[in-house]
Amino acid sequence: MLVSQLLNPTLREVPAEAEVISHQLMVRAGLIRKSASGFYTLLPLGLRVLRKIETIVREEMDAKGGQEILMPIMQPAELWKESGRWDVYGAELFRLKDRHNREFCLGPTHEEIITDLIRGEVRSYKQLPMLLYQIQNKYRDERRPRFGLMRGREFLMKDLYSFDRDEAGLQESYQKMYDAYCRIFSRCGLSYRPVEADAGAIGGTGGTHEFMVLADSGENSVVYCSGCDYAANTEKSECRPQVIDDISPEGQTKLVATPGVKTINEVCEHLTVLPSTLVKSLLYQGDEKTFLVLIRGDRTLNEIKLNNALGGFVSLQLAAPEQVEKILGCGPGSVGPIEVPEGLMVVADQEIPLMKRAVCGANKTGYHYVDVVPSRDFRLDQVFDLRMVELGEACLKCGAPLKEARGIEVGQVFKLGTKYSKAFGATFLDENGEEKCCVMGCYGIGVTRSIAAAIEQNHDDFGIIWPMPIAPYHCIIIPASTKDVQVVETAQKLYQELQRLGVEVVLDDRDERAGVKFKDADLVGYPIRVTLGSKTLANGQVELKDRKTNDTQLVLVKDVARQVKAMIQQALQY
Ligand code: ATP
Ligand code: MG
Repeated sequence: MLVSQLLNPTLREVPAEAEVISHQLMVRAGLIRKSASGFYTLLPLGLRVLRKIETIVREEMDAKGGQEILMPIMQPAELWKESGRWDVYGAELFRLKDRHNREFCLGPTHEEIITDLIRGEVRSYKQLPMLLYQIQNKYRDERRPRFGLMRGREFLMKDLYSFDRDEAGLQESYQKMYDAYCRIFSRCGLSYRPVEADAGAIGGTGGTHEFMVLADSGENSVVYCSGCDYAANTEKSECRPQVIDDISPEGQTKLVATPGVKTINEVCEHLTVLPSTLVKSLLYQGDEKTFLVLIRGDRTLNEIKLNNALGGFVSLQLAAPEQVEKILGCGPGSVGPIEVPEGLMVVADQEIPLMKRAVCGANKTGYHYVDVVPSRDFRLDQVFDLRMVELGEACLKCGAPLKEARGIEVGQVFKLGTKYSKAFGATFLDENGEEKCCVMGCYGIGVTRSIAAAIEQNHDDFGIIWPMPIAPYHCIIIPASTKDVQVVETAQKLYQELQRLGVEVVLDDRDERAGVKFKDADLVGYPIRVTLGSKTLANGQVELKDRKTNDTQLVLVKDVARQVKAMIQQALQY
């Protein structure tokens, strides 16, 4: 491709609305242009990167036995009503009507369509397992579309759905996809981590991993172990419970006055105790149910863990002060677990029963109990891991200190179980002629988001540094002087020679200063640059530059094409 003919509008200025580096660089390097908030046109170089990632994804899906299909973007409301998601999906769903007033939505995901397909086409266990995928645009009316391709309202996703006979089959399909995802992101040249994640409201049989590209601009927070391969989404992460070295009190609990004291810090100051000796007691409202949650004073409650532990409420929140007053007869700052009404369930974090000597509220405004022994002095109806993990705590698996990082979710693998197959009656007959529900999994990769993630991880002050496997072109040839006939002609010859060798190459044939061409080449991030200048060419040499390492070398004109080809081949090896 000749740069003079390429639609590659580069910019020197940083676009004002682009907050993160990948968004800035994609606009500046002329890869994308916005049409409306969350909607973008991919220009030629952007599309080439997209196609490369798509190809890698397709190869790996096919290698695992995936069969590619293409489902409609427009989905009839009836199917969404059948799954029960029409009403719960909320404002993210783009809804529209046809001329006959029939309701549709633009697919944000395709569980409904595919399960509807399978219920019509799969009859026997002999057809299973079945892995079907597509690479297609998805539509989500995100509350905050931002960061360019990172969070768009239209984006390209690869979604695969697995159908198996049983849980064991699902586990196999899941593992296949997990392995394929590792290969995909490695092949794209990304540094990533699969992390255990929360299965959340999608339900299913549990089991889900998110694939995170580690980058400071990531919207997700990840906890990982410094000693082993444990990694989890922060909201899901676990660690070893801590036992505090303390002596159990000899006598009974004592009631002490704590006038005007409300917060944890105020209690600690007033009684000269550490927050880790406090039992923080919180009255919670989950849908219609009220219960008391206990957690150590120095810990943060994880509401997601709490909700999962109790079976999933639609709404879960702290009870209002009036409610606290009504049920416990005190203000929220004096709530405690001792002598609570019989019907009130007490749910404790697993560190509570490990406390030897504690302080807690007395359910009497302005009073606390000291010398409390949790295992002796109050009821613990249910005990779970309910807290957020803190930096440096001990890994549940190996005990090494945990660390934290930011991540961009580029993919997710998910065990759905029979949620959709049951709702749609997607069944098959097993060997005994018995009718069973297909056991499903779903597996997504954000193809457009992966481009942004790759840039977040691979750039410098001058621009993008593409990993070779996803670079829009492998190599750029820059004739530094357009006046020198020998330079121009040699550049042309080299361009043709590289093309013959199958190298994806562009020739910057523009009548521009060398400095402008160098700047653009660095900004766009071609992995290899070949520069032809009058001086070096007089000695039969050209300059070969590696964008990533900045290494430059002078190479004889007759050798350069072969050397470029070898560099590319080496970088593409996996
Ligand atoms: P997020 O939590 O970031 O909103 P999600 O959990 O809703 O993502 P999934 O439904 O698991 O996303 O979709 C599969 C993949 O699609 C994600 O891992 C992500 O890479 C990509 N993706 C999701 N939403 C967007 C978006 N608005 N723009 C670009 N890519 C997206
Ligand atoms: Mg997700």
